[in-house]
Amino acid sequence: MARASLPWLERVPTPSYVIDLARLRQNLAILKDIEETTGAHVLLAQKCFSMYSLYPLIGAYLSGTTASGLYEARLGHEEMGKENHVFSPAYRAENMAELVTITDHIVFNSLSQWRHFGAQAQAAGVSCGLRINPECSTQEHAIYDPCAPGSRLGTRRAAIDAAGGRAALAGLDGLHFHTLCEQGADALDVTVQAVEQRFGDLLPAMKWLNLGGGHHITKPGYDIPRLKRIIRHLQNTYDVTVYLEPGEAVALDAGYLVATVLDVQEENGIAILDTSAACHMPDVIEMPYRPPVVGGGEPGEKAYTYTLAAPTCLAGDTIGTYSFDAPLAIGSRVVFADMAIYTMVKNNTFNGMPLPAILTADEDGTTKTVRTFGYEDFKSRL
Ligand SMILES: *Cc1c(COP(=O)(O)O)cnc(C)c1O
Repeated sequence: MARASLPWLERVPTPSYVIDLARLRQNLAILKDIEETTGAHVLLAQKCFSMYSLYPLIGAYLSGTTASGLYEARLGHEEMGKENHVFSPAYRAENMAELVTITDHIVFNSLSQWRHFGAQAQAAGVSCGLRINPECSTQEHAIYDPCAPGSRLGTRRAAIDAAGGRAALAGLDGLHFHTLCEQGADALDVTVQAVEQRFGDLLPAMKWLNLGGGHHITKPGYDIPRLKRIIRHLQNTYDVTVYLEPGEAVALDAGYLVATVLDVQEENGIAILDTSAACHMPDVIEMPYRPPVVGGGEPGEKAYTYTLAAPTCLAGDTIGTYSFDAPLAIGSRVVFADMAIYTMVKNNTFNGMPLPAILTADEDGTTKTVRTFGYEDFKSRL
């Protein structure tokens, strides 16, 4: 991956996440254009990227935030203070009193959750919705497929019919589906057709329809005109306000994880870094995927090939095998790209690994340190 020069590369502490503000603004401008040209509302899915020091910037472009539960809902409320939505597969009764005061929409996963909490939410003036399961898989990764057999995510049409059909939804303002993961407008199109086929008769009674996340809108090549056509079709056919709640698309490719080489095992072709897949980029192992490395090629493509590995006890804590133009040595820096999303929200201190610092970098190369972490951050959670 050849990429723009990184003037801050030798200055930042390691390990650190460095957020690329220029790229973040580019992504946000694309999402804002969708809001402005269609009237749809775009919300930041905080579970992907919760760097709240940037919420004022993000809030200047987007309509608000969405949350997975009380903590994220509080964060969105406190730090962005715009439209605030929440979806959870099941809510805790003791959280409801606070949730209804800080959210605009609460999405329930089942009719029993709706029956259990709906009156309390409505009495507080919250707009309530039901997550539906369109039973339309458009991807192969079962772990990321809410429509996989046996999924707990979303209410199937059969469950609504068994509960009395349309009458069971009386009082609900909206429907919500989330079935995509890093997918294009073509997969959305297929999903919307399934939603219309199974739930279309329920939509005219709804005020809003939330299309969830997983839309790779800011990835080059995403068919934005097709997304806009789908949004307009839903607005015109059912007279609903359309919501999108992307996580990835907001901060896609908008950050780096900078590491230092601690040792090179020449005989094994391994470089040990001061970062860890398991601790600082768990999706590398969970998803799994191979993150791009700045200046790094495929194994053997360039003169010097190394497997990049962590200083932890876990044998499988390797990040991938990459080749470089120059040999790596103790003190060399290695930069992983696309490290803003699903990284700092997922990191941990397994093995007592330090948490990476959090910085921002602006176009002119100026960096700002947002947070650093130390021993107390490790100790205080245990
Ligand atoms: C994960 C999730 C999102 C965001 O997904 P991205 O793939 O990051 O765009 C939005 N809504 C719900 C309900 C989610 O679970």
